[in-house]
Amino acid sequence: MTSRCDVAVVGAGIAGLTAAALLAAEGLEVVLFEAHSQTGGCAGTFRRGPYVFDVGATQVAGFEPGGSHARLFRHFGLSLPQAHRLDPGCSVRLAGEREPIRLWSDPARWQQERQRQFPGSERFWQLCALLHQGTWGFAGRDPVLPPRSAWDLGQLLAALDPGALASGLFTAATVADLLRLCGCGADRRLRRFLDLQLRLYSQEPADRTAALYGATVLAMAQKPLGLWHLQGSMQELSVALERALLAAGGQLRLRHRVHRLRGSIGSPNPTGWRLEGLGPAQRPFALEASEVVCTLPPQALPDLLGEQLPGGYRRRLSGLPDPSGALVLYGAVDREQLPTDLGLHAQLEWAEPGNLFVSLSAEGDGRAPRGQATVIASVFTPARPWFDQPEASYQRDKQRALAGIQAGLEQLLGVAPERWRHVELATPRGFAGWTGRPYGFVGGLGQHPSRFGPFGLASRTPLPGLWLCGDSIHPGEGTAGVSLSALMASRQLLAARGRTLRLRG
Ligand SMILES: Cc1cc2nc3c(=O)[nH]c(=O)nc-3n(C[C@H](O)[C@H](O)[C@H](O)COP(=O)(O)OP(=O)(O)OC[C@H]3O[C@@H](n4cnc5c(N)ncnc54)[C@H](O)[C@@H]3O)c2cc1C
Repeated sequence: MTSRCDVAVVGAGIAGLTAAALLAAEGLEVVLFEAHSQTGGCAGTFRRGPYVFDVGATQVAGFEPGGSHARLFRHFGLSLPQAHRLDPGCSVRLAGEREPIRLWSDPARWQQERQRQFPGSERFWQLCALLHQGTWGFAGRDPVLPPRSAWDLGQLLAALDPGALASGLFTAATVADLLRLCGCGADRRLRRFLDLQLRLYSQEPADRTAALYGATVLAMAQKPLGLWHLQGSMQELSVALERALLAAGGQLRLRHRVHRLRGSIGSPNPTGWRLEGLGPAQRPFALEASEVVCTLPPQALPDLLGEQLPGGYRRRLSGLPDPSGALVLYGAVDREQLPTDLGLHAQLEWAEPGNLFVSLSAEGDGRAPRGQATVIASVFTPARPWFDQPEASYQRDKQRALAGIQAGLEQLLGVAPERWRHVELATPRGFAGWTGRPYGFVGGLGQHPSRFGPFGLASRTPLPGLWLCGDSIHPGEGTAGVSLSALMASRQLLAARGRTLRLRG
């Protein structure tokens, strides 16, 4: 049966939930389609016996007053999910070293730590702080990036101030350029630390991360910003957004995978979009919507749109570099096996299969029985090679990756392989299945100067009534980032209807 609504949103990760809740709260009839049996996508969870594992995202930014999640929850009139600020936000261990570099939440303590760890680097950190101040105020005024219409440009210009314009002089620079400018270009140890941190947030090392983006992520763990650990699990964030959507009258259709988007572009009587797909028990469904917000990675658009994708746009999409895939170990151990001086999140510089980002559960946080802890270790990996191989060699590579990650965890945490109570590994194949993302791509397009902010992929597409948000759209990956991209696309959609969306409070 075909039905009709104002806006169909495809994908109920954090981007889709946020966009759907925002638009429903503005009185539009919204239907949110989610292929999975639950919401959350890369920020969802799954259960194994007594354990609850966060699938992808494990720590959250944007919970501070004025932060993106905080602003949105205030707008929805809801409390933020229960969470505690991480201190340290992360402990970073370089290869061959015992003592980690700890990203303390107190700025003065972090300054002492970095001066001790990286003598002579303070000018670099001060320059990063200046750039961050310039761009953070700008980001908080909700610019539209990259602009594709007069309205977009107006929003961008309105967000500029002298600080943002001064920072803008560094638009083409990388973090490695800042190091050289500050006389730290030869500091190999600092560079290794920065490469580890930046790869985690921008998919790129220091010499390929845009300076303006890097300056902000390097300030993320310190007050007045911060990183948070959710009580219960990461799913709490999605569940709270579901509540906002349903309270505003929006509809959520789980187990509905959208296969085709057909627009009536160019027809004499444009009616908008028709979405077709398969629902529960593989039953076909169809829905007509005036507009569509798609939160899937842009690499999914050629399949969804088929011949309707304009040639120039198709070429733009096929020219995008492949995002990363992820290998993620989900494990559980007795808590007494774990060191007590790392905090809940750590990084290890590690060769095979790559640098590890490790997240531990806290006692009583709902993820493991008392006296035990979940351990999640993720590594970025090129995604396609995991698909282009026969099953036997895939299984061999998977076992090798698992052994490599366990060896890294033995080094970092002191947990010997036989001590694991539970262990399993997800590869890009698993992420493709879980999230419906082509090749299990995660992490967006990366924050190279040629692709970030003004040079990124726009939320406004050349197809009227089709809007994009999610981790390939400004400001990029992370739950805080994708919720801002959802806000941007929702504001554009409403502006095209002559409406203004202003967040309450
Ligand atoms: C290993 C890993 C670690 C991470 N760590 C962190 C972290 O600590 N902190 C942080 O902030 N971020 C982290 N991230 C990034 C963060 O998880 C993502 O940037 C964010 O969750 C992406 O949200 P999204 O809504 O854009 O996309 P997704 O979460 O991918 O949501 C897309 C949704 O669309 C659904 N879908 C797909 N195809 C269809 C279809 N055809 N029809 C209907 N529905 C469909 C999917 O099932 C999914 O629910 C991590 C990611 C990974 C992979």
